[in-house]
Amino acid sequence: VDKNSQRLTIAIQKSGRLSKESIALLQACGFKFSLHEARLLAHSSNQPVDLLRVRDDDIPGLVMDGVVDLGLVGENVLEEVRLERQATQLACKVQRLRALDFGQCRLSIAVPKEEAYGGIQDLDGKRIATTYPYLLQNYLQQRGVSANNAILTGSVEVAPRAGLADAICDLVSTGATLEANGLVEKEVIFRSQAQLIQRPEPLSAAKQAIVDQLLPRIDGVQMARE
Ligand code: ATP
Ligand code: ZN
Repeated sequence: VDKNSQRLTIAIQKSGRLSKESIALLQACGFKFSLHEARLLAHSSNQPVDLLRVRDDDIPGLVMDGVVDLGLVGENVLEEVRLERQATQLACKVQRLRALDFGQCRLSIAVPKEEAYGGIQDLDGKRIATTYPYLLQNYLQQRGVSANNAILTGSVEVAPRAGLADAICDLVSTGATLEANGLVEKEVIFRSQAQLIQRPEPLSAAKQAIVDQLLPRIDGVQMARE
C-alpha cells in the first residue's frame, strides 16, 4: 500500500462474519467494487477508493500505524489489539467514526455445566482458555481475580473437555456452540459490534472529502435499516 496515494484505502475482513456486510455497506454508500476472490486489493471503479481485504485481527494495527486510512472491524478485536499495543508500547490510537449496525456479539466467560459457579472470584487460580488474553486480563484485574490464561487461536470451546482449561472466554452470539460443548455462560465481559475507524493522523484534503461524503451516507443507510 502506497501511503502517499491519493486513493482512500479501507481495510475490511477478507472472509468471515464481517465481510459480506462490510462490502454491502460500502456498496450501499455508492462505491462500486469488483471483487476478485484471490486479490488482496480491490479498486473502486467510480471513486478513488481501494479496499484492502485482510484478516480482521490485522485491521486495527493497519489503521493505528496509518498503513490504511479506514477500517471496518469488530470492537472486540479493536479493543484487544489496543490493549496489546498499549502494553507493548506500539501506536494504539485510532479515531472512531461510527458504530455500525452489524457484527453484534459478546465476549463471555463460560464454565462446564457440572461446575458450581458462585461468581468471578471462583476463577481465582484457575486456567481460562481464550483468544482475547488482554480483554480477559483487564476484566479479571479490575475484579481482583488472578487466573492463568491458555491462549488459543481456535477451538477455545473444547479446551475444558480436553483438560486444557477450567473455563473459557470466547465470543458468543446464540450460545449454541457453548451448549454443544457442555458449557454455560456466566459473565459477559465485553459487548461488541462492528466499528468504522480512521487512522490517527489527519487525512489529505482529497481523502477527507471522501470521508465527509461517506459518513452521512452511512448514517442514512443505517437509519433506513433501523
Ligand atoms: P479472520 O480469518 O478474519 O481472523 P475470524 O475467524 O477471526 O476471522 P470471524 O469468526 O469471521 O473471525 O468473526 C469476525 C468478527 O465478527 C468477530 O471478531 C466479531 O466482531 C464478529 N462476530 C463474531 N461472532 C459473530 C456473530 N455470531 N454474528 C455477527 N458477528 C459476529
Ligand atoms: Zn480473526
